[in-house]
Amino acid sequence: MSLTIGFHGGAGTVTGSKHLVEADGKRLLIDCGLFQGLKELRLMNWQPPAFNAASIAAVVLTHAHIDHSGYLPRLVKAGYRGPIYATPATRDLAGILLRDAARLQEEDAEYANRKGYSKHRPALPLFTEADAVAALGHFQSIEHERWFEPAGIPARLHGAGHILGSAFVELAPGGRTVVFSGDVGRYAAPLHADPDGLVPCDTLVLESTYGDRRHDPTPVIDQIRAPFRAAIARGGTILIPAFAVARAQLVTLLLTQLIDAGDLPAVPVHIDSPMAVDVTETYQHYMRSDELDDLSARSGGRLFPRDVTFHRTVEESRRLNDLPGPRIIISSSGMLTGGRVLHHMLRLLPDPKNLLVLVGYQAAGTRGRAIQEGATAVRMHGENIPVRAQFISVEGLSAHADSDELMRWLNSAPARPRTVFLTHGEPEAAAALAARVKGEGIRALVPQLGARFASESAEGGWDPVRG
Ligand code: ZN
Repeated sequence: MSLTIGFHGGAGTVTGSKHLVEADGKRLLIDCGLFQGLKELRLMNWQPPAFNAASIAAVVLTHAHIDHSGYLPRLVKAGYRGPIYATPATRDLAGILLRDAARLQEEDAEYANRKGYSKHRPALPLFTEADAVAALGHFQSIEHERWFEPAGIPARLHGAGHILGSAFVELAPGGRTVVFSGDVGRYAAPLHADPDGLVPCDTLVLESTYGDRRHDPTPVIDQIRAPFRAAIARGGTILIPAFAVARAQLVTLLLTQLIDAGDLPAVPVHIDSPMAVDVTETYQHYMRSDELDDLSARSGGRLFPRDVTFHRTVEESRRLNDLPGPRIIISSSGMLTGGRVLHHMLRLLPDPKNLLVLVGYQAAGTRGRAIQEGATAVRMHGENIPVRAQFISVEGLSAHADSDELMRWLNSAPARPRTVFLTHGEPEAAAALAARVKGEGIRALVPQLGARFASESAEGGWDPVRG
């Protein structure tokens, strides 16, 4: 049987994942993500899809992150009529994330129109909440490990250990096996279970986000214990800006473990982000499933400390302003670029008894990066706010496998693939991982954005398709 794979996103970059599989004339899309980050990437979201949306028979979604799911509303608007297969938890998280992304798009467009700075009149959202809801109507739940037939191709989802609901996709067209990794999680990490072992396959499409890096091996608990204790002892407030999905839940789980072990006084903990509240509830709902780690053993089945308050509305968020330390506030956004964390910073940064905790990568040009680089003041709401609070940077909360873990997962297959496509990485990361894969005697290819490859048989390998 003739098989082709088209790489229409997540190629040469870490966002916009879209893999178009064609088998015997049937078309299947694996992931349907938004391009994010640099403006030239974001502008690509406005172009019509590189394929006829109505010609696709099915979509399979690996997980709910917007760089894998965020183009679905536009795909449906462009005429897609088929099912969107995903695990039940991915369906629930996508419901939260797609609606939130739509609201942000609508707010941005409205703001641009009010200020009159858009070149487009009127400025339009990439998609609306109604578009997101229309896309969510196409979702069909598929449990991990259960065979199903998207576009007539036998397929199974396996646990990827990346975020709640995440999966890698096993496709078995015409006696062959092709695996799409989605995003691969970490081994022996808190909260999420290890990725399931790779199934035997002739071809693997493998993410390479951290293909050229190794994560800091120091356990996060050991990085935060001493500075958290000191801040609490001096009556300070600890502010933790964190992404709403996976990061915020990891932080609350670690706090629960520290408090339960008596390593940290049981100070009040506040989750101040409506999306983080919704996502935390979804995590809690699925806690008994085996894709989350043995939480019941390690934290008495709880994802957050006993003294936790959820702040969903703006009014509930404002109430925090009058509360003295010591306490811990988890808020978004992760890189201090916007969101509720800003009004906490206005209040907390000028006082040296407080502690700001920078979790994960802080991109160039963000306030988080400026503080990491020693800025004595940051600009907010047109004012210079002095940075006198203590800050620490915490490493190791990434939900992505590093280079060693990706190789470990690749080598977990009972029989190794003949061909590996490296996707979802910056060019240097993809090239570094390709070199390691080749070192194992496996053919490694790094497709360019828009490239298509065809294969006649498992033995015949893959050839680029011109035109
Ligand atoms: Zn992801």
